Amino acid sequence: MTGLIVQKFGGTSVADATKIQRAARRAIRTKQSGSQVVMVVSAMGKTTDELIALAKDVSPKPPRREMDMLLTTGEQVSIALMAMAIDAAGHEAISFTGGQVGLLTDASHSKARIKQIDADRIRKHLDAGKIVIVAGFQGITETGAITTLGRGGSDTTAVALAAVLKADACEIYTDVDGVYTTDPRIVPEARKIDQIAYDEMLELAALGAGVMHSRAIEFGWKYSVPIHVRSSLTDTPGTMIMPETKGMEDVVVRGAALKRDLASVVLVGVPNEPGMAARIFARIAQHNIVVDDIIQNIYEDRQQANIGFTVAETDLDEARVVADQLVKELGLRGVETDDRVVKVSVVGIGMRTHTGVASRVFGSLAEAGVNIHNISTSEIMVSCVVSESDGERALQAVHAAFELDKAPNNDT
Ligand code: ADP
Ligand code: ASP
Ligand code: MG
Repeated sequence: MTGLIVQKFGGTSVADATKIQRAARRAIRTKQSGSQVVMVVSAMGKTTDELIALAKDVSPKPPRREMDMLLTTGEQVSIALMAMAIDAAGHEAISFTGGQVGLLTDASHSKARIKQIDADRIRKHLDAGKIVIVAGFQGITETGAITTLGRGGSDTTAVALAAVLKADACEIYTDVDGVYTTDPRIVPEARKIDQIAYDEMLELAALGAGVMHSRAIEFGWKYSVPIHVRSSLTDTPGTMIMPETKGMEDVVVRGAALKRDLASVVLVGVPNEPGMAARIFARIAQHNIVVDDIIQNIYEDRQQANIGFTVAETDLDEARVVADQLVKELGLRGVETDDRVVKVSVVGIGMRTHTGVASRVFGSLAEAGVNIHNISTSEIMVSCVVSESDGERALQAVHAAFELDKAPNNDT
């Protein structure tokens, strides 16, 4: 039986005609080596950003349905051009929008979740010898509305397709040659990681490592899809995102990440009595605001507390409205907000078996003169909310503290 590879090309990898032709040649080579190939492509270069700017020019608050209608045009351009490039090179290809391959999602425009994919249609064309090209980032609802999966969502389209088609691997072609210990644009000493476990990559992606969309990792983990993140410009092997192997826990911290565009909200003077937190967060949830971390400080007299939480900066306006309502209804002293906070985190499955990670994080931030606003931890991560102006310095400090610029001892 022939194998099947899904190859996803990000925006920079299809930014112009030459790059589209290069991606086309790569898919053709893979096909010639005996595999069926499904390509998933993003919009060219900065197209999505430009479309968002255009929308803002005509409306301060564009309806989310229309925003999705607009943004999906970016990917529609690149799939057609990719099919033309393959055709011009003498091979057969066919392009499809998300809707055309039955990529069904829920109706939450701009952050839709995939519900189902019709694999038969794709298989039929693969079996007829074609390279199938699918538009990333987009889907359709049961009632026919066009949706998008959130910024960076083409990764998720690719891994979800790899899962339903039971592909041998999903290759993510991008402008870096793999997943690094942290964003190499911020910390030039960052090192490429050869192998990373699904849960580590999921945490890193959720904590701001923009190289992969976190939903993509969830699919990969759930359906055991091997994901290979690599450069579209070279043939050097990249990073394998895969199940945990023996020895992976020997490395305490695999990587570090910086999450920007956060905001903090503090409710001041909350009566210290049962049910308060439940009422506050039930109201916030009703407004579909996703809360990142929560911190509660109780005053010395134990009568009152401050309850603080972080949200995406884009949710701050709505969170402030809800917080003002809560101040009135519950008789709180007030609300303080700060839209200039970020979160720096370290992640590694080795933390399950090694101690002292949190104290090393705090020590390195203290040495760098960074004040910590808020702390959260799980079995495999430690995160600190800090001021935006300290963010990059904090990331550099934790990266150096765990010597992530050096090869781990068990690296071969
Ligand atoms: P694409 O358009 O191919 O999807 P992205 O811009 O979404 O590319 O992702 C690649 C970028 O992710 C890199 O250029 C890099 O700056 C950034 N990045 C952030 N964190 C990491 C990391 N840990 N490893 C590698 N790249 C990272
Ligand atoms: N074009 C979309 C974006 O820029 C999706 C993607 O590239 O993954 O977010
Ligand atoms: Mg991306």
